[in-house]
Amino acid sequence: MKELVTREERKEFIDKFDNFLFDCDGVLWEGTKLIPGVEKAMEELRSKGKNIYFVTNNSTKSRKSFLKKLQDFGIQASLHEIFSSAFATAAYLKQVVHFPPEKKVYIVGMEGIRDELNAEGIRTCGAEEDAHAVFDSEPIPDDPEVGAVVIGLDLHVNYTKYAKAFTYLKRNPGCRFILTNGDTTFPTHGMIVPGAGSIAMPIIKALNREPEAVLGKPAQNMLETIFAEYDLQPCKTVMIGDRLDTDIDFGNQGGIETLCVLTGITTKEEMLSPTNKIKPTYYIPSFSDLASE
Ligand code: PLP
Ligand code: CA
Repeated sequence: MKELVTREERKEFIDKFDNFLFDCDGVLWEGTKLIPGVEKAMEELRSKGKNIYFVTNNSTKSRKSFLKKLQDFGIQASLHEIFSSAFATAAYLKQVVHFPPEKKVYIVGMEGIRDELNAEGIRTCGAEEDAHAVFDSEPIPDDPEVGAVVIGLDLHVNYTKYAKAFTYLKRNPGCRFILTNGDTTFPTHGMIVPGAGSIAMPIIKALNREPEAVLGKPAQNMLETIFAEYDLQPCKTVMIGDRLDTDIDFGNQGGIETLCVLTGITTKEEMLSPTNKIKPTYYIPSFSDLASE
C-alpha cells in the first residue's frame, strides 16, 4: 500500500493507466452531494484521453438514471460507460442462465432492477405492485410463472414482499434466488444504513438457502463484461473505490491495481490495520487530490 503524496507520484499514477474504473458512491459523490473537486479531476482524466468506466453496486437506479445523475453533477459520461449491479443481474439472467421468456422475476427491490431486467426483455413483478402492500394473512396463490426471485436494496421492503419471495422459493426449488449485490450497509445522508445484503438476510435465514449468485462487486461479472467489451489490458487498468470488501477486493480478484480513497466508508485506520487482509495498491485522501492544481 502506497500513499500518493507528491504531485510527481500522482502524475506518475495517472500516466501509468489508460483505463480508470470508478466506484461511484464514496468516490464521486456521497448520496446526493458531489465530493468537492471531483468534476475537475475527472475533466483532467478526460483531457488526457483516459477511458473511464463507472461501476456501482447501487441497484436502485437504472443506468439511464445514473447517466442523468452524472450529467446533473457536471460529469461527462455516456451510457456505455456505466455498469451497475442491476445491469449485471439482467446480463446474468439473460446471458448466463438464459432465463426463459415465458417466466418472470419477482423483485424485492426498486425500479432500477425492474428497468434493467425489462430492457433485456425479462418480465418482472413485485417491485411496484407490492411497494405499499399490507400483509393480511390471505394465502399467497401459486404463480408458476415466477422463475426467479431477485433481491436488491428496497426502500419499500415490507412483510408481503418477504412472504411472497419466500413462498415462491420454498414451493418451487427450481426458482432461482439471486442478489444484485451483497453490501451489508451503504452510506446516505451522513449515516450508514442497511444495504441489499442485509435486506436479503430474512429470506436466506428462513429458507436456509444461499443465493445462487450475488452480482455486483466483488463478484467478477462486471469486470469480465468490461474487459470483454473493451478489450482492456489489465496492467493499464485501475479500480478506484472507497470500500475494501467490494471495490478493492473486486480489483484485487481481477488482477488489476487499486486505489482506495478515504472519502467514503473506509477509514485510514481500518485500511492500515494489521488485521485488514484486503489491501489496495495505492491510497489517497480524495480522488480530487489527483487533479494537478
Ligand atoms: N447500494 C445502494 C442501495 C446504494 O445506495 C449504494 C450507494 O449509494 C451502494 C449500494 C453502493 O454504491 P457504490 O458501489 O457506488 O458505492
Ligand atoms: Ca462505494
